[in-house]
Amino acid sequence: MLAAVCHGKQDVRVEPREERPLAADEVRVAVAFGGICGSDMHYYHRGGVGDFLIREPMTLGHEISGYVIETGQGVTGLKPGMKAALDPSRPCLTCRYCREGRANLCTNMLFLGSAARFPHVQGGSAQTLVLRHDQVIPVPEKTDLLRLSVAEPLSVGLHTVNRAGTLNGKRVIVSGSGPIGLLTARCARFAGAVEVVSTDIADAPLAVAGEQMGVSRTINVATNPGALAEFEADGGYFDVALEASGAPSALGSMFKVIRRGGRIVQVGMMPAGAAAPVPVNFLQSREIDLVGAFRAHDEFHLATELIVSGQIDVSAILSGTYPLSQAATAFELAGNRSKVVKLHLAMSNPSA
Ligand code: ZN
Repeated sequence: MLAAVCHGKQDVRVEPREERPLAADEVRVAVAFGGICGSDMHYYHRGGVGDFLIREPMTLGHEISGYVIETGQGVTGLKPGMKAALDPSRPCLTCRYCREGRANLCTNMLFLGSAARFPHVQGGSAQTLVLRHDQVIPVPEKTDLLRLSVAEPLSVGLHTVNRAGTLNGKRVIVSGSGPIGLLTARCARFAGAVEVVSTDIADAPLAVAGEQMGVSRTINVATNPGALAEFEADGGYFDVALEASGAPSALGSMFKVIRRGGRIVQVGMMPAGAAAPVPVNFLQSREIDLVGAFRAHDEFHLATELIVSGQIDVSAILSGTYPLSQAATAFELAGNRSKVVKLHLAMSNPSA
């Protein structure tokens, strides 16, 4: 089978990889589509993301959907030919965090296409892949697999919203309108937020936010740097801020527009070693909660259901699909924010 393998900075090669035998609890899948995530682009452009550096060739990708092609002896409920959402998280299920119901914090996590561990966990930009049975969630035959591949980033949006607490009737600001920011804004609306304001430094993604993600108002903080000032009156306007840009200065700016007793959720990943300006006296004297959101756990099932049922339409973030053979081209183009929200690779199609 072929895979898009990152050998280091700006070096992605489509090359053959060995398939391995299945364990009793595993499933072999054909990957249909894979979305290119911001973290994949960091691996491609810089050879690493955050503190995780590529130290051996690694297949990228973790936003995938596909078909079951083979099941291990102990697997029930999955049959060859079934369409499925594919969860990139393989938590150990036995550590303290897994048993507390916070499997996204698992200390033994095997997450597809991640250099956090060594040997690295090979990713999903491949024609076939071996997953544990619980990572494979069957979906109805009519499901569109391209949209379904958005289940993973949508699950991150749902998890971010869960970390914010109840949003019903709340005023929410979403800082950053990349794919995660856009999907998080949509999830805030789904969770009952009465008003969602989205920011970014580019107009194109803000247009998507305003037209297709249920956002009430959009603000370009690069061309209109004073626009957030109106939200500072009376001790702050928003109940909740969801910081999805990963820009250190953006986190600092959220403290001024959040009301007393409000909550800020940091989901955007900041550059390695970034020092974000957190005004601790604000945080303390206004009793502002600052919490983190990392990946997702059970929310992957809800994300799958919302896409399958059409309750959340993710088509606005689909900007184009390239064949696996053109992976390097797709990685080059994926960062053009004036034209692209998210690009996909088409891996294999066993039904064709
Ligand atoms: Zn665990």
